[in-house]
Amino acid sequence: MALDFTFSPDQEAFRDAVRTFLAKEVAPIVGEMDEKEEFPKATVRRMQEEGYFGVPVPEEYGGLGLGKVGYCILLEEMGRVDASHGAIIGAHTSLGTTPLLYYGSEEQKRRWLVPAAKGERLMAFSLTEPGSGSDSGAVHTLAEKDGDGWSITGNKIYVTNGREANTIILMAANDVKLGPSGGVTAFIIDADLPGFRVGRSEKKMGLHGTSTAELVLDHVRVGPDRVLGEVGKGFHVAMTALDVGRVSLGAASLGGIEAATTEALTFAKNRTQFGLPISEYEVIQFKLADMAMKAHALRYMVYHAAAHQDRMGTNPKAWSRLERADKTREAAVVKCLGSEWASEAIDEALQIHGGLGYIRGTPIERAYRDARISEIFEGTNEIQRLVVARDVLARGV
Ligand SMILES: Cc1cc2nc3c(=O)[nH]c(=O)nc-3n(C[C@H](O)[C@H](O)[C@H](O)COP(=O)(O)OP(=O)(O)OC[C@H]3O[C@@H](n4cnc5c(N)ncnc54)[C@H](O)[C@@H]3O)c2cc1C
Repeated sequence: MALDFTFSPDQEAFRDAVRTFLAKEVAPIVGEMDEKEEFPKATVRRMQEEGYFGVPVPEEYGGLGLGKVGYCILLEEMGRVDASHGAIIGAHTSLGTTPLLYYGSEEQKRRWLVPAAKGERLMAFSLTEPGSGSDSGAVHTLAEKDGDGWSITGNKIYVTNGREANTIILMAANDVKLGPSGGVTAFIIDADLPGFRVGRSEKKMGLHGTSTAELVLDHVRVGPDRVLGEVGKGFHVAMTALDVGRVSLGAASLGGIEAATTEALTFAKNRTQFGLPISEYEVIQFKLADMAMKAHALRYMVYHAAAHQDRMGTNPKAWSRLERADKTREAAVVKCLGSEWASEAIDEALQIHGGLGYIRGTPIERAYRDARISEIFEGTNEIQRLVVARDVLARGV
């Protein structure tokens, strides 16, 4: 088995460019963004201009063509600086463009994927409903046959980028009784379609730069050109996107651990109590060691999974059942452990800061609030354990 965990010079150059960009353009505004709870329009526009909204998309479809490894490099770097910017890119890329790239017809790719990857249109992904969260196949937003097309009616909730997105990959039920096995279809919905409107936006504990919106569809009429993949196979579309999203969430968690560890290390070396820098006390050193160990292990897990997804390619029809199962288990492991390790590491980093860590407006306080959601969205960690457990029962360890 060939095992190579080194990055290519191009990948290293991309990381350097992203790091420089984020330090110069994003880091200075995140404190104010968090306080004002505003979508960071100007920096999103700049990231679109830099091509950061199409990193894993092939160049022929307007992207940078850097694959999932490149995409995880981006999200790791974003995770070091600001989780909100990472979530905006993640919702757009993993969940918005993946379905188009993997399941779209050539015409759909030209019409929706190319402008999305070029940063000319913002994407969102809408699966969750008031009655359908973890039980994500129980979609009740109804897609009724209407001539050669469909009429879609229902309420979606918790949609990241929901307020700003131009286009949403939205799951609706072509047959409620069939549920995930044949009853859910993925639709491409533009926000300016008649009958579509954005409802309330949630106030949140963290991720203050992102919108989390309700979408209301009242007889939104779409033609067959807006069905993504096959009718009734929308649940596969959603799960494929989530497999990509879960690995990239692991990358963002990795960046979060790295930043928190660096902050805690600097603080510990400079904070003197009882006549010594607190970094001299073994209790503090062990906390730093635990944080560094989590980053070390997660780094291998994330890039192993990303490279695996790159090797599998973007044609789901070419995947065997076994390949699919490996990919899904791996994504669940990365998402679950990555998010929990990030929460634990950031909690320890906050503890090392003492009272200062609890003061509103410090980077560690923001990171603490931002990190918690990663244990919940893109499938809760209970659901990730369920995915792994089912696979363990079916195939063993
Ligand atoms: C900030 C934010 C952004 C989001 N962005 C998006 C988005 O862009 N698009 C989108 O579609 N959705 C999005 N979501 C929705 C998110 O994915 C769901 O909130 C999540 O999947 C959980 O669903 P739920 O909130 O309905 O919780 P529930 O499913 O009601 O779960 C409640 C609790 O029960 C547990 N539970 C449920 N079933 C089981 C079981 N079988 N076994 C054990 N435990 C179980 C859960 O793990 C959880 O702890 C977002 C949510 C938030 C808060």
